[in-house]
Amino acid sequence: MNVEKSDIDLSKKLCDCPACGHQDCKKTHTKVRKLHDKSPSADVRRLLVLKYSQHFCPTCRCHFSVDMSKFAPVKSRFTTKVKRAAIDLVMKKSMTLQRASETMTAKHHVNVPPTTIHKWVKVARDANPA
Ligand SMILES: [Zn+2]
Repeated sequence: MNVEKSDIDLSKKLCDCPACGHQDCKKTHTKVRKLHDKSPSADVRRLLVLKYSQHFCPTCRCHFSVDMSKFAPVKSRFTTKVKRAAIDLVMKKSMTLQRASETMTAKHHVNVPPTTIHKWVKVARDANPA
């Protein structure tokens, strides 16, 4: 199985606190997240390796990570592209969760459990009721 890897570096030395807006909070750690990405074919598995920094805010004494929402949903193992594609299969092509999960595996070589797709679709429907 071929694996295609992309590296993205989102780490910064300084970052503003998302909670209180304190500017230039110092970096405390650099971490790496591996995400399953959408592949253009079933023969290739795509991985997105996201390097990011964690920061400490001296005002609200909280730890936070740089904003990664453009690439991946919070705590997800999948990229935003995977999420969007899976939601579209269910909402635009009216597939069942099981079918959508199988299609993601067959077409994009990414194994998204039907329960995960269900969660994504539920949030998308709640945010945008027809
Ligand atoms: Zn803060």
